[in-house]
Amino acid sequence: MLSSVRSFTRRAARPLFCQQPKANVRRYTLAVFPKPCLVRPHCEKNRSVPTIFHRWHATSAPAPVYRTLAFYKFHSLPEEDLPAFREELLAQFGAFGAVGRIYISTEGINVQVSCPEPYLDEMQRYCERVIKPKLGGDLMDFNWSTDEPGRRAFRALHVRIRKQLVADGLDPASYDLKNRPSHLPPAAWHEKLETYKAQHGKEPILIDMRNHYESNIGYFDGAIRPDADTFRDSIKAMNEIVKDIPRDQEIFMYCTGGIRCSKAGAILQSASGFDTVHLVEGGITAYGRWIQEQKDKKSLFRGKNFTFDGRLGEPVTEEVFGQCHICGGPCNRYQNCVHSSCNLLMLCCDTCASRFLNTCGRPKCYDVVHDYKQSAQRFYNPDGPVLVNGVRAYIKEKSDRVVIGKQGEKCAEEHNRRIRAVEVLGEPGEILKEWVRLGRTLP
Ligand SMILES: [Zn+2]
Ligand SMILES: [Zn+2]
Repeated sequence: MLSSVRSFTRRAARPLFCQQPKANVRRYTLAVFPKPCLVRPHCEKNRSVPTIFHRWHATSAPAPVYRTLAFYKFHSLPEEDLPAFREELLAQFGAFGAVGRIYISTEGINVQVSCPEPYLDEMQRYCERVIKPKLGGDLMDFNWSTDEPGRRAFRALHVRIRKQLVADGLDPASYDLKNRPSHLPPAAWHEKLETYKAQHGKEPILIDMRNHYESNIGYFDGAIRPDADTFRDSIKAMNEIVKDIPRDQEIFMYCTGGIRCSKAGAILQSASGFDTVHLVEGGITAYGRWIQEQKDKKSLFRGKNFTFDGRLGEPVTEEVFGQCHICGGPCNRYQNCVHSSCNLLMLCCDTCASRFLNTCGRPKCYDVVHDYKQSAQRFYNPDGPVLVNGVRAYIKEKSDRVVIGKQGEKCAEEHNRRIRAVEVLGEPGEILKEWVRLGRTLP
């Protein structure tokens, strides 16, 4: 029996270490080694921590240049093969020095990783040689992020066995994933959408299959954007949108990298009887990359493409659609409240982020982080984690964000990832009134 999420983080990367020049040690240490016990130096846990860890803050080497990429494939895999496959992926991707998330299930594979540039060719060859034959003999091309090569977008490498690659809330027997929707390359997608009205005398049915916080900051012009919290909600909304539409009318849909639409399109074609569902191959990521290379075309996607990694988004056009939740100004920058037991996902402009110490702006979160910063200041070592009063704190790379561990002072409400900022903070700008109510001066 599969548990819904079984995870395993890579614990060692000896081959990589032997090959790497010392100069690169620091970053890899962060990514793949177990955390040492900082309370008791002779703790059992520390036996598995290479001594190099203790030196990691002494090296100030340039980080390797990473490239972020994704690919997925729906293909039936036998359930009993998954644990061995997971181990193999961990060993291989770990040896490349890759960080990111890999999901495997009886439905196939979904990979989002940042890989150091020197290992990209090797990774590509491995995918070709091992992953491709396992997954039915063909594999999509790597879907590169639109960013320039640079920092990695994830902290560690995780390979997880999941029940489904994307959870749809449906009975898998009710649809057929082999009924693949039409995958249009970005150029054909652009062309078809642009000329649709002239050819058919009406606007195309274009559905954004992502969640509300994704479609808030960027979308294809004219898209229907359901107010969805999860993919299950998007599927329900999709069925509602198309229920009275003739089955021979083309449907267009898109998501970040294409995986959600591959499934949703297959559902519309096999379960609802639509003739043709089009998706843009590689999703907004691929479209964004393509449109940046076009000199004479105007992007049909406007704003920012939300991504599920440390970047929380990559811009496609300069337009800004969101509002900072603290001051109400125009904003498309997402952050999680830095008080990690709050962790609220919200839009927050740079100015408010630094004023309110990267918290959600509520006085209680601000106070915890502010007091903590003050009291722990003398312990800070910009290169490594410290333990103060039983709380593990560290400064994130290249910023002064303070992350206070789960054992730290708890937020009154603990937020899971689905809660909406508006439910906690009220409408944008509203939170400032709480400061006034409490008779506090703003930071
Ligand atoms: Zn603001
Ligand atoms: Zn907060």
